Amino acid sequence: MSRIYNFSAGPAILPEEVLKKAASELTDWNGSGMSVMEMSHRSKEFVSIAEKAEADLRQIMGIPTNYKVLFLQGGASSQFAMAPMNLLRGKETADYINTGTWSKKAIAEAGRFCTVNVAATSESSKFTTIPQQSEWSLNPDASYLHYAPNETIGGVEFHYIPEASNVPLVADMSSTILSRPVDVSKYGVIYAGAQKNIGPAGLTIVIVREDLIGDEIPGTPAMFSYATHAKANSMYNTPPTYSWYIAGLVFEWIREKGGLEAMAEVNKRKSAKLYAVIDKSEFYSNPVDPDCRSWMNVPFILAQPDLDGKFLELAGEAGLKTLKGHRSVGGMRASIYNAMPEAGVDALIAFMEDFEKKNA
Ligand code: PMP
Repeated sequence: MSRIYNFSAGPAILPEEVLKKAASELTDWNGSGMSVMEMSHRSKEFVSIAEKAEADLRQIMGIPTNYKVLFLQGGASSQFAMAPMNLLRGKETADYINTGTWSKKAIAEAGRFCTVNVAATSESSKFTTIPQQSEWSLNPDASYLHYAPNETIGGVEFHYIPEASNVPLVADMSSTILSRPVDVSKYGVIYAGAQKNIGPAGLTIVIVREDLIGDEIPGTPAMFSYATHAKANSMYNTPPTYSWYIAGLVFEWIREKGGLEAMAEVNKRKSAKLYAVIDKSEFYSNPVDPDCRSWMNVPFILAQPDLDGKFLELAGEAGLKTLKGHRSVGGMRASIYNAMPEAGVDALIAFMEDFEKKNA
């Protein structure tokens, strides 16, 4: 059976080369006579896989040596709590920017631990914009500034790094990490669930500046402390070994493809052509301000919502799957992460144009 083009927001499409390599090593990794799934996380085989994955990630992202890279479980949702638990460092407030569903979840969770100052929100525009940075009301006493560089549901993305003045900048990069080069040194913490642009679900990557580690709030469980995992090289308990291994294969794939510059070039082109088709049509529309449209998640609605079902059915028959928009917004959403080939976007565009011609 041939592979479909899977536009799922996550778990999401993975590079076919990675899946084939994993398949070829499934029952016997590198002459070990074992699957990676069967290895002790403390074995020399797995430690070599883990170390190589970290080294490759450091290389492709240019992660400075004063940052730890943690390979954790719990999803980005656990980081909504771990960020305040570890980063308040004796302070009582944190600044958050609210640009959509995931920002709101992060804000709600932080509210359990501190006073949250929502320094800016685009809720009044139904999250179709990003408030001008000059209008943000940042609190000079905040312990950190948190934002979501890409809102996976709304399809709203920052195309710049916010200025956090003197406080650490914390980013939920779940749906945009590895989509383009990023200056890690501008951040205190970057975290991301793996299941979009990194690898399989079950792994969560946290990149944290070393001076921010070790001052968690009293009572923080060991598993919620960055210090615990940093000290143990993410092996305090059993890490998600197989997801870590696949992530390593994805990092290798990115390197072979030319790194994050090359990813950015293709991602920019793929999203631009999809938005162009939406914008030139009266049949499809995307409500997001063109300055902050996502390269990764492209929501769009049909002028006639009663055609949604037919659109999804025929798209599916054409091998274009998982285009249904998030249940909170409806319509369609095409998630076009690194692993979505440009040919997949071209096929979607051809389908959309044909569907419009026949149904508008
Ligand atoms: N943040 C963002 C931006 C997301 O897209 C998601 C998942 N869709 C989450 C957080 C939650 O991630 P997880 O399911 O890994 O907890």
